[in-house]
Amino acid sequence: MNTPPTPDWHARAAALQPDGRLYIDGQRAWAADDASFEKHSPIDGRRLATVARGRAADIERAVAAARAAFDDGRWARQAPAARKKVLHRFSELIVAARDELALLETLDMGKPIRYSRSVDVPAAANCIAWYAEAIDKVYDEIAPTGPQALALITREPMGVIGAIVPWNYPMIMAAWKLGPALASGNSVVLKPSEKSPLTAPRLAELAVEAGLPPGVFNVVPGYGPEAGEALALHPEVDAVGFTGSTRVGRRMLEYAGRSNLKRVYNELGGKSAFIVFPDCEDLERAAATAAGAMFFNQGESCNAPSRLLVHESIADGFAERVAALAPRYQPGDPLDATTEMGALVDEGQLRTVLGYIDAGHEAGARCLTGGRQARIDSGGYYVEPTVFDGVGNEMHIAREEIFGPVLSLIRFRDEAEAVCLANDSSYGLQASVWSHSLDRAHRVARALRAGTVHVNQYDEDDITVPFGGYKQSGNGRDKSLHAFDKYTELKTTWLRIAMPASR
Ligand code: NAD
Repeated sequence: MNTPPTPDWHARAAALQPDGRLYIDGQRAWAADDASFEKHSPIDGRRLATVARGRAADIERAVAAARAAFDDGRWARQAPAARKKVLHRFSELIVAARDELALLETLDMGKPIRYSRSVDVPAAANCIAWYAEAIDKVYDEIAPTGPQALALITREPMGVIGAIVPWNYPMIMAAWKLGPALASGNSVVLKPSEKSPLTAPRLAELAVEAGLPPGVFNVVPGYGPEAGEALALHPEVDAVGFTGSTRVGRRMLEYAGRSNLKRVYNELGGKSAFIVFPDCEDLERAAATAAGAMFFNQGESCNAPSRLLVHESIADGFAERVAALAPRYQPGDPLDATTEMGALVDEGQLRTVLGYIDAGHEAGARCLTGGRQARIDSGGYYVEPTVFDGVGNEMHIAREEIFGPVLSLIRFRDEAEAVCLANDSSYGLQASVWSHSLDRAHRVARALRAGTVHVNQYDEDDITVPFGGYKQSGNGRDKSLHAFDKYTELKTTWLRIAMPASR
């Protein structure tokens, strides 16, 4: 069998002319006031596109289109099997546009092309297909009431959903909202991050090409305090599905309070603990898993295991193992198909990450490897994979989400202290326990205040399982059938059943 030649990503990137216009009611358009911003690539600073700078007037147009589409039932009142067909076609078109979407994503936010092509595009397509397939298999309920009445408990689409997403996995985060929201019959206005605005309007074009009626899925790129705020405050938006920082998640709750008390589902930051006990039977695999999960996506993952909690008896050796893996993750050209780690999203993020590295040094943590900016001549924003040892859980680098390739190793004395340190965080997104003892694994997994706990692994991921956090990591759950709860209202309908007069 002949293997297809590896695409020349540099040539393709040079030929690409991304369309930065917004997408409302089935049409590409510029912002109402013609405002725009220039988008440059973090991989080398090249100019990528002029992007429509959506503001309140554009959100107004998009919400009006979404509302009209919802109210006339062009999508919401189609049979589930009909919606399924359209969404399957949408998923197929995403797969067919794989190279184009992967390239846009890499140029836009800096991740290696091998991963935007093998992870981001397939995961987004799979998510849409999964919800397409689910929607004609979910039944409503009849309550076990008495004989003189019938109580139907049904799920109905909410109406207009505002989806506000971050830049670290732009297509996947959008798909996690779009899948359940569209499958259950809602209309959507999606606001991508201003740092990664290019794939979202393209997804909307593909959806309409697949047969989604115009107006059902609209995209307004723009800045958070402009387009994002206008969307989250809009009285005709019934729910906001937000993924982003805890700081902005707080604002989402305020916007809802100041407007129409719309439902707010927050998927926020994390500072996940990866706990290694001395009875872990494969320290080599534990170290490789920690490094792989930490440095994947340049450390710009909400669930990156950025606090490595290691028992003091094995900590020295474990620190050495993790640090020795760093060369594998040295940042490289994201358009080179062998690169493992790419560019940070922009100069601001670069400064933030370098600032935290300085804070680690100042607090007295010991930098075992990395700690510097890399590939400076490229014109892009790269940081070496960095491992600090001797970190205290009270230090800034242990408490705050860095969102870059910086791992902090914290030592513990016993199981009780490990649980205490892991839970001593305002976040509660994920955690991992490494131990050969089944009892310990279950005990610790139960004691951890986190939305997902991994045992002796960190890699498993599937659209069938919920994803979300405890505490200030958020309230909603993306993925799985549970995500339908976010975008549907629960209705009870009582019917009287007249009984024949007794003879
Ligand atoms: P961010 O909060 O700065 O921005 C997220 C989105 O909100 C963007 O579209 C942005 O334009 C918009 N926004 C910003 N300010 C706004 C405002 N005042 N009003 C309305 N909208 C506003 O987050 P980010 O830097 O884009 O993304 C990184 C964050 O996302 C990290 O904290 C990460 O942990 C989190 N994240 C969480 C998950 C999860 O599932 N829990 C997944 C991915 C990323």
